[in-house]
Amino acid sequence: MLVLVVNCGSSSLKYQVREVVPAPAGGTGGEVLTSGLIENIGGPAIRDHTQALELLAGRLGDELGGRTIDAAGHRVVHGGERFSAPVLVDNEIIRAIDRLAPLAPLHNPAHVLGLRAVQKKWPSLPQVCVFDTAFHRTMPEHAWRYAIPEDMYVRYGMRRYGFHGTSHDYVTGRAAQFLGVPREQFDGVVAHLGNGASVTAIKGGRSYDTSMGYTPLAGLVMGTRSGDLDPSVVTAIMRRDPSMTPEKLDAMLNKESGLKAIAGDHDMRTVQEAADGGDERAELALEMTAYRLAKYVGGYHVAVGGARALAFTAGIGENAAPFRRRVCDRLGALGVRVDDDANAVRSQEVRRISAPGSALEVLVVPTDEERAIAEATAALVERHGGRPAR
Ligand code: AMP
Repeated sequence: MLVLVVNCGSSSLKYQVREVVPAPAGGTGGEVLTSGLIENIGGPAIRDHTQALELLAGRLGDELGGRTIDAAGHRVVHGGERFSAPVLVDNEIIRAIDRLAPLAPLHNPAHVLGLRAVQKKWPSLPQVCVFDTAFHRTMPEHAWRYAIPEDMYVRYGMRRYGFHGTSHDYVTGRAAQFLGVPREQFDGVVAHLGNGASVTAIKGGRSYDTSMGYTPLAGLVMGTRSGDLDPSVVTAIMRRDPSMTPEKLDAMLNKESGLKAIAGDHDMRTVQEAADGGDERAELALEMTAYRLAKYVGGYHVAVGGARALAFTAGIGENAAPFRRRVCDRLGALGVRVDDDANAVRSQEVRRISAPGSALEVLVVPTDEERAIAEATAALVERHGGRPAR
């Protein structure tokens, strides 16, 4: 089955076409037949998402050698409290995603534009939405509640939702498989460390707690996001500097903080190189980032009643061996030991980097969100017999 994987933003559309072999025949999210990016939607050349879809259809016509796609799978950032699994799209689903816009104002409206544009271009093509939040719907209430007045939750939905769920889910499955444990018996911690970063406590193969919260700003020190801080910092800044509007504070905390604020650059490679060259700010940034992550791993080890493994994934988790070492050194108190030779290996395969006798198995598990979306899409469409979108 050929699945078009779509990640639709307000001014861009990222796509891949994957050939998925359904589960009974082996179940792989397989080969990427083509991929690309359409940018500057809303600009002079590409007026809107409908026009972007015309462009995409033209490209696919050229790139797929006459083959046609069988389904589209969309990455959707926010599924709120409603969506706990991928869904087949119909008009009611699109309206529901639109209604969740207050929770993800930059993302959900753009996803809706993408869904409607695909619907318009290919009316009988089945579409599936895969939500970043869905995997975390299994968190217990004591993990997702904020200790603030109930009204804030009831009226505004203020609670922990968590993100990167597709990746945490995929990596959990791969880690359990690698260790030869049934997924339902897998207790561990998954650290998705990319430009955005989050860590998830996995109990019985499901999300039990996660570091991102109401928005992706919470938790770890990231490329340009602060992660956790005392909320009074926000109100105190607003009081001291009335020009700091909510929009400016959002921009400061999401785009000007994290590694960028401390080391002067958001990119881990640059920061690591600077630290290796003796730059103290870069060294401090790495220490802050590793320290915060190690505290979360320790906390989640307790949360799941004793983790069996820690899995690193995404750009930093998969590639930054010195950073993994730094985090694991801080986990020495838990009995974690790293094998330096194994840690230095570069590969696209799942691998163990802990030394024999380490209290937790430490793994590197390359993530593949597009593959997970393609597989989920194919599975759902197969199950429903490829029923077209209404
Ligand atoms: P992602 O958002 O998953 O693409 O991850 C982006 C982050 O991964 C950036 O901070 C990159 O600097 C980091 N990264 C990618 N490759 C490497 C590498 N070889 N060494 C260190 N960091 C890397």
